Amino acid sequence: MQSCIFCLIAEKKVDSRIIYEDDISLAFMDINPVAPFHALVIPREHIRSLDEVRDFNLVSHLLYVCKLVAQKQGLEKGYRVVTNIGDDGGQTVFHLHFHVLGGRPMNWPPG
Ligand code: 5GP
Ligand code: ZN
Repeated sequence: MQSCIFCLIAEKKVDSRIIYEDDISLAFMDINPVAPFHALVIPREHIRSLDEVRDFNLVSHLLYVCKLVAQKQGLEKGYRVVTNIGDDGGQTVFHLHFHVLGGRPMNWPPG
């Protein structure tokens, strides 16, 4: 999708700090971090949100990449993986992504 910022990042038409990539997915640092470590894991394919996913294996793949990047970062004390879905979920970019947040204790419940 031409107008989707995460598609443009995946196609390397927009710069980002990419920390992991493979055939199916990539991970890059969030432009506006809310934790000392804040990465986003996305599929290369444009999928609007988790709600639109039809492929079981894709979700497993993306979650596995979340833990790979967290381990690579050395977040032994823990971290959080979040995906926001739709307006009430607080989603602002409508290309499926998982946030990987770490480097500080997380609050619960989230806002
Ligand atoms: P959402 O609110 O949809 O769950 O998360 C979207 C995330 O994408 C936000 O944390 C926001 O800071 C991040 N983001 C938005 N535009 C860009 C961008 O151009 N580059 C990067 N690296 N992150 C972005
Ligand atoms: Zn997209």
